[in-house]
Amino acid sequence: MHELSIAMSIVDIAREAVEKAGAQAVEHIELEIGQLAGIELQALEFAWSEAVRGSVLAHATKSINHISGEARCMECNTAFPIQAAYDRCPSCTSLFIEVVHGKELRVHALTVH
Ligand SMILES: [Zn+2]
Repeated sequence: MHELSIAMSIVDIAREAVEKAGAQAVEHIELEIGQLAGIELQALEFAWSEAVRGSVLAHATKSINHISGEARCMECNTAFPIQAAYDRCPSCTSLFIEVVHGKELRVHALTVH
């Protein structure tokens, strides 16, 4: 499952951060997940409980910042919100768009103790 490998790589990132800080565990983790990142949140929640078991994240609270999709048209430079990466520019209908936000998948902040 795609989401399980994502959850496990987040555990790796957290473990490194805890080691680097000389801490014991993570208290709180904040993730940024874009609307277009292809992450199914329910699947991630399920994978999360599996992945964090016995890890530095086992007792951590988690919050997720959802980043909405935003693109810029490469023809007319209009910035607009998108639901999918193949949306058209609303002002000139061009398909040549650049996704500016929405593909994020990262650890935004970690509190260790
Ligand atoms: Zn355009």
